[in-house]
Amino acid sequence: MMSHIAPPTEPRNPFVMAQQQFDLAADLLELPNSIRRRLRVPRRELKVAVPVRMDDGEVMVYEGYRVQHSLARGPAKGGIRYHPDVDIDTVRALAMWMSWKCALVNIPFGGSKGGVAVDPRGLSLGELERLTRRYAAEISIIIGPESDIPAPDMNTNAQTMAWMMDTLSIHRGHTVRAAVTGKPLHIGGSEGRVEATARGLIYVLHESLKLLELSPPATRVAIQGFGNVGGNAARMLHNDGLPIVAVSDMYGGLYHPRGLDIAAVQVHVQRTGSVIGYREAEPISNAELLELPCEVLIPAALGNQITSENAHRIHARILAEGANGPTTPEADAILQEQGTFVIPDVLGNAGGVIVSYFEWVQGLQEYFWSEQEVNTNLERIIVKAFHDVMRVVAEQQHYARTAAYLLAVRRVADAAETRGVYP
Ligand code: NAD
Repeated sequence: MMSHIAPPTEPRNPFVMAQQQFDLAADLLELPNSIRRRLRVPRRELKVAVPVRMDDGEVMVYEGYRVQHSLARGPAKGGIRYHPDVDIDTVRALAMWMSWKCALVNIPFGGSKGGVAVDPRGLSLGELERLTRRYAAEISIIIGPESDIPAPDMNTNAQTMAWMMDTLSIHRGHTVRAAVTGKPLHIGGSEGRVEATARGLIYVLHESLKLLELSPPATRVAIQGFGNVGGNAARMLHNDGLPIVAVSDMYGGLYHPRGLDIAAVQVHVQRTGSVIGYREAEPISNAELLELPCEVLIPAALGNQITSENAHRIHARILAEGANGPTTPEADAILQEQGTFVIPDVLGNAGGVIVSYFEWVQGLQEYFWSEQEVNTNLERIIVKAFHDVMRVVAEQQHYARTAAYLLAVRRVADAAETRGVYP
């Protein structure tokens, strides 16, 4: 099909990118320097060395982090990522984005993030458990239901959260359910949490389709990443009647111009561990996927995918960001110019933290909700945030990411200003 397209090469420091996005909003809001200086940097950073006894008896040491960007609106909230690319600046950026996300959807949390620089594919289950438990113990000095609450992110899942919750509980001497979210259901997880990020993205995507008068059967979707966010989004949108023309994972992608059979692709992934090799589709690269003819593009893998190099070749009418930080500020300028309808990450993937908030509330009260209650409340909160952003877009002619930042940064700044500077 297409000629080979080089992968995006704009090397970007995610924290520099996050600060640029913040500066733009701070300028527009005319934030005083006293507040701007405080919100531009993380409040607290913890770097830990995580020794792990491997199955062969050797001890390896991995680098781990937990960064709390802001605590002005409540306890810090943010996921834990296991990936070889994890470094302090990635975690700082992700923590800052969590502050804006929680403020945008108006839940009473600050922002944080954590991670370990490791490729978990190289570890046995036992090694992964020992790594998780030691990392949890190392960061436990700043973790807790009232202070900072981890959740899953890339390459971590409900089992990882169960080990973290158990480790924290053993250290405290009693079960501390609300210290971690994204846990399995039978130890205090919430109904609907696993699919929550994808479900939230789909609620706002359907609102966008209504706004742009696009009918679901005529809306072709390409999705980069086939994990928690991308895989669940593919399944749900396919069930809603949208043709999913492309999906991918870290090994490569698949394209079918009339739409893939997502259930069959999922069976293939369960059998082989990847989407590649599925026969009823054309193989494509991850870079090619971003530039396919489609109405909706959903990046749901790593950051820095849409850059000044490829933004002008994005054909999608809607860019619905499932991943954190998939678009650089330079690419934003191009997308704005070409009129791409952007659902920014702080809105598009906020479903996960909204249902994490519900899980935290349920854990504190030891009173659990039905899946219907969870989904109804998720829809109410995220659809309201979508219309709040669209109102700012319409009234002030801002790009959607800028509009989302104006709402979010204002709320965090108001909280920080009202609480004042100690001492
Ligand atoms: P995951 O580990 O479940 O899945 C990640 C997927 O991306 C996998 O299919 C993997 O193969 C693929 N991938 C990895 N590297 C890739 C590459 N270089 N090119 C293409 N695909 C690649 O992770 P997830 O939880 O689905 O998270 C995906 C994104 O969504 C991340 O940016 C994460 O921060 C964001 N996010 C996740 C949640 C959540 O609740 N899980 C919430 C908010 C945001």
